[in-house]
Amino acid sequence: MYVKAKAKGSEELGIHSEVVQLPADTTEDQLLKEVAKLNNRADVHGILVQQPLPAQIRTEKAVAAVSPLKDVDCFHPVNVGLLLIGTPRFVPATPAGVQELLLRSGNDPAGKRVTILGRSNIVGKPLAALLVQKGRGGNATVTVAHSATKDIAAVLRTGEIIVVAIGQPRFVKADMVRKGAVVIDVGINRVPDSATKSGTRLVGDVDFDAVKEVAAAITPVPGGVGPMTIAMLLTNTIRAAEAVGG
Ligand code: NAP
Repeated sequence: MYVKAKAKGSEELGIHSEVVQLPADTTEDQLLKEVAKLNNRADVHGILVQQPLPAQIRTEKAVAAVSPLKDVDCFHPVNVGLLLIGTPRFVPATPAGVQELLLRSGNDPAGKRVTILGRSNIVGKPLAALLVQKGRGGNATVTVAHSATKDIAAVLRTGEIIVVAIGQPRFVKADMVRKGAVVIDVGINRVPDSATKSGTRLVGDVDFDAVKEVAAAITPVPGGVGPMTIAMLLTNTIRAAEAVGG
């Protein structure tokens, strides 16, 4: 779904995109060679290695193989470091989408207590790094909760803004959210639903119908963060092309 959305978004913007689909039994070496080929192509400005990767491929190897100048996902250790010290080359797409969504909906995180549930390298950790920076869209007081956090409900209730990215369908219930909080649901989970033609449907990590009764604002799934992620990814790609005069 995400790969298709990226290709469609690129086409709409007039960005040429290619999907290199490798078999599930591709070796790490084969993948790294494919990435090296794309690194060397002057007509390619952005490279995304779609995660999750098969077990035989180490994610950190794949991430570090992408040229930092073409790393529009902002997963390369150099780009992650630049983000952390407040001089980003790229901003990772999902955290950037969450930040922009907050700003444009009139919920500037500055001075607010923000609780993030989930600490992945893709969402939770870079989002914390972004919101804690001094400057536009930052200046938040950030708490990051995860599977080892004691009393997650109590920690979540401290958040004036809550961002959830754990991959657990409808995990966050109404009693875990303070009245008037702004709730951003990053989760995308496919669950069985006999009422649909496909027999499944997409839900977030938040119990939307219950939480919307206590939240001041809440993002839907699908919709909400997903399209923002695509938009920010395309922004990074344009930035990457412009940086080399493309
Ligand atoms: P991930 O790499 O699997 O990380 C999940 C994180 O959630 C981990 O830090 C894990 O804690 C924590 N966690 C899992 N179960 C938990 C629980 N019961 N209580 C507390 N913490 C728990 O996932 P991800 O890549 O960040 O993705 C999270 C969700 O966001 C998924 O549904 C994914 O599809 C979605 N997503 C959406 C977008 C978008 O554009 N909308 C983009 C990226 C991801 P530990 O670290 O302690 O294990």
